[in-house]
Amino acid sequence: MTQLPRPDRYQIVTLPGDGVGREVTDQAERVLERVQRAGVRLEVERIPCAGSYYVEHGKEWPDGSFERCKGADAILLGAIGHVGANGQPVRRADGELAGYEQVIGLRTKLDLYANQRPVRLFAGIKHGISGEFREIWAPRNVDMVIFRENTEGAYAPGEFRLERGGAVELVVSPTICTFKGAERIARRAFELARRRHGAPSDGKRRVTCVDKSNVIRAHRLFRDVVRGVGAEYPEIELDYAYVDAFTVALVARPERCDVVVAPNLPGDIVTDLAAFIQGGMGMAASGNIGDHHAMFEPIHGSAPDIAGKNLANPSASILSTAMMLRWLGERYADDAASRAGDLVEAAVESAVVSGAACTRDLGGSKTTTEAADAILARLDATL
Ligand code: ATP
Repeated sequence: MTQLPRPDRYQIVTLPGDGVGREVTDQAERVLERVQRAGVRLEVERIPCAGSYYVEHGKEWPDGSFERCKGADAILLGAIGHVGANGQPVRRADGELAGYEQVIGLRTKLDLYANQRPVRLFAGIKHGISGEFREIWAPRNVDMVIFRENTEGAYAPGEFRLERGGAVELVVSPTICTFKGAERIARRAFELARRRHGAPSDGKRRVTCVDKSNVIRAHRLFRDVVRGVGAEYPEIELDYAYVDAFTVALVARPERCDVVVAPNLPGDIVTDLAAFIQGGMGMAASGNIGDHHAMFEPIHGSAPDIAGKNLANPSASILSTAMMLRWLGERYADDAASRAGDLVEAAVESAVVSGAACTRDLGGSKTTTEAADAILARLDATL
């Protein structure tokens, strides 16, 4: 990563968005306030946005917000998706979900091509299966990072629709892979594998390319490019899997995974499944990272079923904040920011392991604020 002159204060934009996104961002902002005690100088600007804002203002955020995001050192997103009075998600005039600009818009316009998803299971986490909470995977067996390509694949523009007499008769949705797109995400994966400690099962540094290249030609190019980049890293084992088979491998043998790299759609699928093996949506953090900008967010949506009830698990958002601090630390060679990121993650782990941050999704009964209070108390003790 290119190291840049450190700003006097980091400018952080938070985009709380909709539903539980706002509740968990409130808690993440408390964390950002606290880490200033550890010498991380930052300023937070909160910009209201997405579906709930659209209902009131007829636009997705105030004018000038994109420029604020572009000028920020990092962005922290909550979640988007607001249910309107008719019980349906609020959409823009063009049919896209209101909040599209904050998610897909920012990923595309700021070229946030690497969706980085750490998947680590904390001790004592119980998984809710058939309504029963059980410990299924040993924490030592689940420790991987998944890179999902974020700007191409089946999500890139280029859809073709044929409408006749007002009826949609044909839709063609292309899957795109460019050499540049595959090459830069592959390089991210190998560079991280080089710095990690290998897969839990055998300690081998390994990159697993997950795609559907036996059927989709664009994925064939993706795999070929990953193979080419892998040749520059002979110390790292390169492994391949088709996404359908990989869903089984991920659940049955997560300990074989060290770093995973995937095109957009297979990456979307396996990261949701991976969230489950680390305790669910409430535990899954992510970063959307380009060469010049980065946006961090919990992977969950606005969860309308629990929104406004103080029930959401704030861990994913707080762990995304920890990722953001570590990213700033690396980008600006700032030890205080890196250390603060480590301390925030350790505080979440300790609070979850003790049960003090276990919200309903983890089989506990803590509210969002109680869980965050427990995390902050542990953080305060270490800062
Ligand atoms: P989207 O369609 O954008 O992914 P969604 O809100 O429909 O969003 P998810 O956010 O993926 O769906 O969440 C699925 C379910 O997981 C929710 O209905 C909710 O019950 C649960 N969930 C999601 N996030 C959290 C959280 N932070 N804490 C607790 N439960 C959560």
